[in-house]
Amino acid sequence: MLKDFGYDEHFAESLAQLGRPELIAARVVRGTRRSFEVVTETGRAVAQLPGRMLQRNREQPRPVVGDWLALEKKKGRWLIAEVLTRRSTFIRRGRGRATEAQVIVANVDIALLLTGLDGDYNLRRIERYLALTWQSGAKPVVVLNKRDMSARPVQAVTEVTAIAGATPVHAISAKHGDNVAALEPYLVPATTIVLLGSSGVGKSTLANQLLGEDRQRVAEVRGGDDRGRHTTTSRELIMLPSGALLIDTPGLRELRLWQADTSVGIDEAFDDITALAQSCSFVDCSHGNEPDCAVRAALENGTLSKQRLASYLKLQMEIDDLERLREERLRADERGRSRRKRKKLEDR
Ligand code: GDP
Ligand code: ZN
Repeated sequence: MLKDFGYDEHFAESLAQLGRPELIAARVVRGTRRSFEVVTETGRAVAQLPGRMLQRNREQPRPVVGDWLALEKKKGRWLIAEVLTRRSTFIRRGRGRATEAQVIVANVDIALLLTGLDGDYNLRRIERYLALTWQSGAKPVVVLNKRDMSARPVQAVTEVTAIAGATPVHAISAKHGDNVAALEPYLVPATTIVLLGSSGVGKSTLANQLLGEDRQRVAEVRGGDDRGRHTTTSRELIMLPSGALLIDTPGLRELRLWQADTSVGIDEAFDDITALAQSCSFVDCSHGNEPDCAVRAALENGTLSKQRLASYLKLQMEIDDLERLREERLRADERGRSRRKRKKLEDR
């Protein structure tokens, strides 16, 4: 049962390391603030978050859909003792000045990055989704949807492959079912997948295709009047007929999300530029006007496109901004703490 939901040695080890044999493993399929629907070895259950975990505490992550938990039984109820070590996380950056990252989903294996082959088609956006996914720890697959709307789907695949490197790229039509079969190899039992992409690219349509005949059942289980149509209103983990696990996440529609260790994703997504930069004379070359810059040389001889370098530099700048904000915030927190400490001493 747990294996069907992706439980493996990594999580078993994380549980064992707690050294508390009375704890059991469970995976979050749906969550509210305090109450989490989970699957356990013996079936579905509801687990509660104890008050101490509700407090804002940097050490203790709050459970999200996809998380593996260690549960303990207290007075006949399941309580969440720990969140087991995550294998991957998709993180949303806070609004405005809030730079604290918020984890939206955990333990995703494969992210299907959807773009429409209509007005939505944008190579730069695909690059950002790729960077985001590399940062998360999940494996990306690019899906070009609405191939029926494009006169040149094959060229699009070639173009995207040029920026995606080894990442697979598929052109499909979710609405008509064309080539959806190309995604079957990723829908492996116990593998967790998410669909990412801006609004209107066809995520719900594809989810419905992947759910096949099960979609009616999902709607019934959910209740309400969304009969027959799979609507993405809440984050939840659903088992597809193939045995793969789909996490549906409206929160992932926004792209303002950056991982704490941001450089990982950008280096992976722009591995051509990363490789070039290793030949620059200066280790910290900004590829501006430093002498002997391999990146600018590639630009001049046409092996690197101007646009690609521009999106790399733009992304790099955003990351720098974010890091600066985070540092400022840490310093402000620090000041707040010492002020409070002083006040406490004075109040004595
Ligand atoms: P979401 O916002 O990403 O969930 O997108 P939806 O699944 O709601 O789809 C948005 C619109 O695009 C709907 O009107 C769909 O019928 C349409 N659509 C989805 N997939 C395709 C496709 O492969 N071809 C065409 N022509 N339209 C599609
Ligand atoms: Zn350089």
